[in-house]
Amino acid sequence: MDAKVGDDVFKQDPSVNELQSRVADMFGMEDALFCPSGTMTNQIAIKTHTNPMDELICDKLSHVYKYENGGYAYNSGIAIKLIEGKYGKITADQVRASVNPNYDWLANSKLVVIENSCNTGGGTYYTKEEIVPIRDACTDLNLRLHLDGARLFNVLVETEESTHEIGQLFDSISICMSKGLGAPVGSLLLGKKDFIARARKFRKAMGGGMRQAGFLAAACNYALDHQVDRLKIDNDRAKELGKILESCSYVESVLPVMTNIVIFNLNENITAAEFVKKLESKGIIASAFGPQKVRLVTHLNIDEQMMKQTKNILKELSS
Ligand SMILES: *Cc1c(COP(=O)(O)O)cnc(C)c1O
Repeated sequence: MDAKVGDDVFKQDPSVNELQSRVADMFGMEDALFCPSGTMTNQIAIKTHTNPMDELICDKLSHVYKYENGGYAYNSGIAIKLIEGKYGKITADQVRASVNPNYDWLANSKLVVIENSCNTGGGTYYTKEEIVPIRDACTDLNLRLHLDGARLFNVLVETEESTHEIGQLFDSISICMSKGLGAPVGSLLLGKKDFIARARKFRKAMGGGMRQAGFLAAACNYALDHQVDRLKIDNDRAKELGKILESCSYVESVLPVMTNIVIFNLNENITAAEFVKKLESKGIIASAFGPQKVRLVTHLNIDEQMMKQTKNILKELSS
């Protein structure tokens, strides 16, 4: 609450300016834009990269496809080409095969979006080695490449890759401060100077220009100072939960646990809705991610005692 604030619509909020230049520098990008949500940073990126009748290429599990109300069509008037990836991850060959020839009746392939980590894929991640060929394909085919990096820091604490290495590979990056990093509000969009200048106009048009946003930006700066390294704890805890679930009688299968997300399929004796209710009655909040699919997420508000309790309850339900 002691943050220095100003009017960010006039670029006069010192805390927002500090956050934007800090994160841009961190990734070796020219500029950054603070927005109220990750949906908005993704939507602004799509809008800024494309024109109506262009086409976006992404995995069929992508957030930009599944969870943004079809915003790519609503905001940008573009088509979408879905790739059947593996746990939410696509390959350069799949990108190359998805590009439309230049016919009057086919949408113009323009933008590739990859998600790292992949939420619905089970928190799986791409390594830099896996991204480079996708980058090369995009360069060859004149496609832009956007990273939905809502949970990117959960990945980087695993791979130990640098933010600079990742920044080099993308035309734009979206990062959420309000997920594992624990800030109350906010996401950042990173890109080149002229890209961010145009993105600012779309942010205003979408109602995302904020006045004394420095209170929020200061919390994001705090999160970057204090909450990045500890994400490894969340990832490790998710792996522990995944291991336990693998031997539980009610579980059919567990998706590979690579970061702080655990997605598992229940066997036919119980539905996800019923199971989530059961967990809730024991004080554990989980999400139903499909008729038989449940998601658990670990984060900074979970402590060792809560972990112990959760592990015990998951085991008890198995007996
Ligand atoms: C949460 C999330 C978003 C959107 O962020 P909001 O701030 O909730 O709008 C985008 N992509 C992924 C992968 C996410 O997990």
